[in-house]
Amino acid sequence: MEILRGVHLFETYANTYVLTDSSLILIDTTSELDAGKLLAHMEKARIRPKDLASIVITHVHPDHVSGLARIKRDAVGAKVVSSKIEAEYIAKTRTYDGPPGAQYQKQPPTPVDVALDDGQAHDGLKAIFTPGHTRGSMSLLDESHSLLIAGDAANNENGLGPMDDRYNVDPKQHRESIKRLATFHFENAVFGHGKPIVGGASAQFVGLAKRL
Ligand SMILES: [Zn+2]
Repeated sequence: MEILRGVHLFETYANTYVLTDSSLILIDTTSELDAGKLLAHMEKARIRPKDLASIVITHVHPDHVSGLARIKRDAVGAKVVSSKIEAEYIAKTRTYDGPPGAQYQKQPPTPVDVALDDGQAHDGLKAIFTPGHTRGSMSLLDESHSLLIAGDAANNENGLGPMDDRYNVDPKQHRESIKRLATFHFENAVFGHGKPIVGGASAQFVGLAKRL
């Protein structure tokens, strides 16, 4: 589904996105179990994995990254991008200590090619570190679409809100990150879980930040 011109949403257990405007960018890679489903969705939309320039991982949770090894087999030219904190957990040079522990143990390690700092831009996307859900969670600001790619910094399953605290490594820091997102301006927002917001998105974040 193309939710904005050049922004495709592919629904699996967790949402993934492909930006098709300038270079082809995949945001998150779903679970190992759903990777085939994501590839089928992409094929239907005529997006060829081998044309992907970047695969950006918002955070290390299995439903966002355990499909990466499978996707990388087809996306041979793509650079894997994450926050510099999460890069070590994704490559497993360091062991992630937050929930859900057992599932993390099973996911394959994948090296990260580009480890971003907070505020650094890559392929037109600006990294905004939003720790608390995981230690190195990252959201992305795509100014060309006035779009926040939140990852799991918030969810919009039953209205905009924080993630379930069972999955947050630091619930207090997670809320501070939502307050930080509310200081940016963006018309639209997409989430790892829940529906996109098209129009008036940052105003909703400001409203949520006041209630936290
Ligand atoms: Zn998550």
